[in-house]
Amino acid sequence: MRSITKANVKGKRVIVRVDFNVPLKDGLVQNDARIRATLPTINALLEKGASVVLMTHLGRPDGKIVDTLRLKPVALHLAKLLGKKVLYVPAVIGAPCERVASRLREGDVMLVENLRFDPREEKNDKTFAKYLAKLGDLYCNDAFGVSHRAHASVAAITKFLPSFAGPLLEKEVALLSVLTRKPKKPFVAILGGAKVGDKIQLIAELSKRCDAILIGGAMTFTFLLACGKNIGKSKAEPDKVALARKLLKRKNIILPTDIVLDNGKTVSVNDIPANARGLDIGEETQAVYAEIIRGAKTVFWNGPLGLFEQKPYHLGTLAIAKAISKAKAISIVGGGDSIAAIELLKLQKAFTHLSTGGGASLEFIQGKKLPGITALD
Ligand code: ADP
Ligand code: MG
Repeated sequence: MRSITKANVKGKRVIVRVDFNVPLKDGLVQNDARIRATLPTINALLEKGASVVLMTHLGRPDGKIVDTLRLKPVALHLAKLLGKKVLYVPAVIGAPCERVASRLREGDVMLVENLRFDPREEKNDKTFAKYLAKLGDLYCNDAFGVSHRAHASVAAITKFLPSFAGPLLEKEVALLSVLTRKPKKPFVAILGGAKVGDKIQLIAELSKRCDAILIGGAMTFTFLLACGKNIGKSKAEPDKVALARKLLKRKNIILPTDIVLDNGKTVSVNDIPANARGLDIGEETQAVYAEIIRGAKTVFWNGPLGLFEQKPYHLGTLAIAKAISKAKAISIVGGGDSIAAIELLKLQKAFTHLSTGGGASLEFIQGKKLPGITALD
């Protein structure tokens, strides 16, 4: 991967694929963390005498123009953050875009319309990518979170322009590589969240590399079913029980021993009543997990350990987050809801790295090749 930070960009138009997939409401950006994260990338390019052509998707318009998913609010917000005009073009490709792009001068910033308004974006269409490439002289991918998708603006476009990695993407790759290359041992993974189905492969891969995998969240109950236990009305995926049983043959997968129920009581995993729902890991489990985490040198965490959005079922997640923050370990967190939980609990500072990648981070950690990254090699 060549870094855009080392490229000669003076007088060049640099297309930067960013991840501005931010929540919008009433025409306003609700959370601008993703936009702010790219400011250093944009400013560094402008300072070196480049102009910048930004491209992003937003939401799921599924190849059609959806007015509520237009990027105008994003352009206005970005302009405020940058303290300069953003040339927003309400078209993805074509004459209006080419006209603006051809007149860009040093220090100009342009933003084209939501890439996913065009069905060819998600099809990784070569012709579409060629039109995108017409808008710049160099291409830079700074959107790690979409790099697991072979889409035109991350994959096919690299066939038409000299292509580089952006600093955000490089940072993600460098930090997540800690987990895929020799992680310092003991390496402990904590996996929670809602769906075992989505994470079976992740668990299988990590169980080869980790010393311990601590299970929490709703996926606990699929594993408990696999152990022949009663789980009452707890959330589980009965069709994944056979897979869970297979995974449990790996001796390093550790399950909770006690559970907090929807009536507020804590019971042993052997005594979950038929009419109850398990919503968090109990104090005994928290203590056992905290002790294992205390000795770790590398920690990876994905998925809340309980229904953290609803107090007091945030306590298991809080206890684990605190345990990780105290460990003398490299700690990496991935997953949208996991990061939301950390933000809610105001524990951002306690971790080495909060990966913004979501699905891309999870695929990277499994050792899969990401199309957007392969395309830059
Ligand atoms: P991430 O986005 O970090 O990958 P997931 O999407 O897999 O995480 O799961 C997060 C969701 O799982 C949260 O909304 C959380 O409330 C829910 N959850 C965790 N534990 C339980 C539980 N015991 N019962 C029901 N939902 C749970
Ligand atoms: Mg999620």
